[in-house]
Amino acid sequence: MAHTNILDWDFISLLLLSGHLSELNVSGNRLTELPEALGQCRRLTYLNASSNQLAGLPGSLATLQHLREVALSMNRRVGKWLAEEAGIEELPVEPMAFYSCDPPWLGHRGGTTFRVDLPVATRRSDPPAVRREAALRAIAELPQPDITIWSDGSARGGMEQGGAGALIQFHHLNNEETVRAPAGAVCSSLRAELTAMREALAAVAGLEEGELASIKSVRLLTDSRSGLQLLGRGPASQTMALAAEVWRLLNTLAENGTETVLQWVPGHAGLDGNETADRLAGEAAAGDQDSAPIDLSSARAAVTRHVRELSRRRTTAAHPHPDPTPGHDSLARWGSVTLSQLRTGTSPLTRDTLYKIGLAANDECPACGEPDSVTHLLTDCPAHEAARRRRWGVDPRLVDVLGGPAARVVDFIEGVGRTEPPLDPPAPPPP
Ligand SMILES: [Zn+2]
Repeated sequence: MAHTNILDWDFISLLLLSGHLSELNVSGNRLTELPEALGQCRRLTYLNASSNQLAGLPGSLATLQHLREVALSMNRRVGKWLAEEAGIEELPVEPMAFYSCDPPWLGHRGGTTFRVDLPVATRRSDPPAVRREAALRAIAELPQPDITIWSDGSARGGMEQGGAGALIQFHHLNNEETVRAPAGAVCSSLRAELTAMREALAAVAGLEEGELASIKSVRLLTDSRSGLQLLGRGPASQTMALAAEVWRLLNTLAENGTETVLQWVPGHAGLDGNETADRLAGEAAAGDQDSAPIDLSSARAAVTRHVRELSRRRTTAAHPHPDPTPGHDSLARWGSVTLSQLRTGTSPLTRDTLYKIGLAANDECPACGEPDSVTHLLTDCPAHEAARRRRWGVDPRLVDVLGGPAARVVDFIEGVGRTEPPLDPPAPPPP
């Protein structure tokens, strides 16, 4: 549904209610909000809402257990909202790179080479000595540089407490320098790696003019293949401000007439320079993070974690029986989806849900007129007293119903005829 000028969310809400959608793409519309009904899409794993005008996300997203990826780029106001939700609004937010760092007519002038493999391929499972040997051979094949940079980034769990470290060897001066920089309290591994490259390249590009002029060759050795692959797409393709900044520095070196080779090397293979950079990155990660900016993709990862945690808490709190309902996994698809919705207290089969998302005029139970809810349907509604007693005895509690066999719950729903959302009756035709 990308670029389709979605106007009528009611129609889409109905689709979502089916609970069968696993991926949804509504990018490129002019949406200012997403419907709460998204929370009904229990199987949603991927949501792309990029390039809209969103200022926030519906709270119901937090209940989606399977949601793994939310794409939200190019929504001007959503970044601030995300940061607030994740409790990271105090940190400086990095602007996105909306334009490339190089005028397109200049193109890529050369002088920068990316090598994401070794001449002799290695595997992660190879012993360190084998990988070390292959890496040393690759390094030996590179032109003898004036400067060698070993850069490395680290982020705890790949998500937080980022640190960047680099060892810079000035071969012509026969000395070396170390660089440490925090990469952010909320930080991906990729970001930590790119921060390390930026800090090291900035140190080289910032040399005094006379000194810089004598640097004809730089090699940067990193164990971040994804970082090199991202940069290797060229300066015009960078959307991360940090990556664009790395390219700006690479271009500064190229303009200086410096040949720069960025070579991938295996990590944790006993390479001295890599080990040193790794240690420096670890030290930087432990330092003060407040000054390091946070980018949208790291913020997004933080929010996804936050949302998942919320969802876990909500399920536990809202549901008196956090243990799985026995036999849930062997239900057919419809039954399984329906039971999940009942367990979280939000089901399209009850009027309170429909009322909340604007698909019903009120929350009255279609069978008895009392306020409808999962608890009402399963344990209280007087209209289903007999059907209920046959399955769970007199006055069962919700914990008895959801703690009993899953097939019995589905059987009850079918038995009382509540298999479709109880929508309002159609309006009478105009006279
Ligand atoms: Zn009722």
